[in-house]
Amino acid sequence: MARKFFVGGNWKCNGTTEEVKKIVTMLNDAEVPSEDVVEVVVSPPFVFLPVVKSLLRPDFQVAAQNCWVRKVGAFTGEISAEMLLNLGIPWVILGHSERRSLLNESNEFVGDKVAYALSLGLKVIACIGETLQQRESGSTMAVVAAQTKAIADKVTNWANVVLAYEPVWAIGTGKVATPAQAQDVHRQLRKWVHDNVGAEVADSTRIIYGGSVNGSNCKELAEQPDVDGFLVGGASLKPEFIDIIKSAT
Ligand code: PGA
Repeated sequence: MARKFFVGGNWKCNGTTEEVKKIVTMLNDAEVPSEDVVEVVVSPPFVFLPVVKSLLRPDFQVAAQNCWVRKVGAFTGEISAEMLLNLGIPWVILGHSERRSLLNESNEFVGDKVAYALSLGLKVIACIGETLQQRESGSTMAVVAAQTKAIADKVTNWANVVLAYEPVWAIGTGKVATPAQAQDVHRQLRKWVHDNVGAEVADSTRIIYGGSVNGSNCKELAEQPDVDGFLVGGASLKPEFIDIIKSAT
């Protein structure tokens, strides 16, 4: 089954209203391959979701960068999945490594969040990835398998899940995984999904790569058979994000 290329832009905790509007204008003016070829999703901070949604071209979609693990209630400072739906936000990024490390989000907590968001009808970009220390000690696959298992244990329908493999040592460091390194983990991860979830899910689920993707390194990464797109941080705020979208073809 052909997996449609997916390019996500994770704007993280960046931007002012003016800057966000400039990025949207840049995106709206760009000539990119059609929606049939590439799915583009940008993820501004919560407070800018309404303005981005209202101004962004209709062939691009919007994602939140997080949401609460359960339904609305007395959870000061949190944003619920219900609220995202209410605003017409179709996607959410969950389990980003910055939240796992800085906010102590465990595999189980991320699994619960993914399951709850999916149960309401949100689509989820679920992030996994190993630290440098884990890679150097040879436990990359064990780490990403455990992170994926915590999701698989709670999710039955994978149709609305995109798995983002983001090695922590590559995020924001300028030290991108080589195409061979990315392909190697993506291939093993797809095999893990095949063996533990099912052949059809393994075949149809997009596994995207994230970590220092830019306009110059995207093409070679995109050519890897098990790399189905990207989750882009720093470069998603710049015009080179358009080149990354174009690497779909
Ligand atoms: P980066 O971030 O592209 O700036 O490395 C990627 C991410 O954290 O999603």
